[in-house]
Amino acid sequence: MSSTNQKLPKFPCVDCHTDCCKEYTIFVNAHDVYRLSNGLKCKPETFLELIGAKDYSLGIKVEEGLVDLALKQKNGACEFLEKTDTVFRCTVNDFKPGVCKSYPFEMKNGKLSQMSDIMCPTDWDILEFKEMMIPHLKKDESEWEFYDQLVREWNLKYEGKKSLSKFLKFMLEQVKLSNEVELL
Ligand code: SF4
Ligand code: SF4
Repeated sequence: MSSTNQKLPKFPCVDCHTDCCKEYTIFVNAHDVYRLSNGLKCKPETFLELIGAKDYSLGIKVEEGLVDLALKQKNGACEFLEKTDTVFRCTVNDFKPGVCKSYPFEMKNGKLSQMSDIMCPTDWDILEFKEMMIPHLKKDESEWEFYDQLVREWNLKYEGKKSLSKFLKFMLEQVKLSNEVELL
């Protein structure tokens, strides 16, 4: 969290074996990739994995095929998960993807709730996390809408005739532009 005034609730993740970072494929959107790329000061290609998107309604059409973007895995877990002697920790905590920040919360019928049928063993205190999670989930939703729109535009314009690296360049430029517009 960036706010210094807000009192942070205690995260149960500290004492957990972080199965969520091992079991899930972490799909990312344009803003996630932009923040990670800037935070790590490296090209998106170094931390992204391509997942075939044939079964998804929305995939990115590039020369490499129809793909979705996810974080690379290493040793059966997200490559950013680090194990010390006693705990697991996320090495990109300040700029980790939106989905990692919000898990295992979701908005259901306009209310914050904990997802059901998931691997997280914790019974989270919804009231304690409400102030932090609701704005985050709303922001995450609008970033996914931005990304979906951007992918639709790209697919219509190029129909798989350009490479993934061109798409990534286009994607990052669009995020940069939208951030600049927000600052005006
Ligand atoms: S979200 Fe749940 S499963 Fe993931 S680290 Fe936290 S407590 Fe563990
Ligand atoms: S980015 Fe961090 S929180 Fe997200 S899956 Fe990887 S290690 Fe876990």
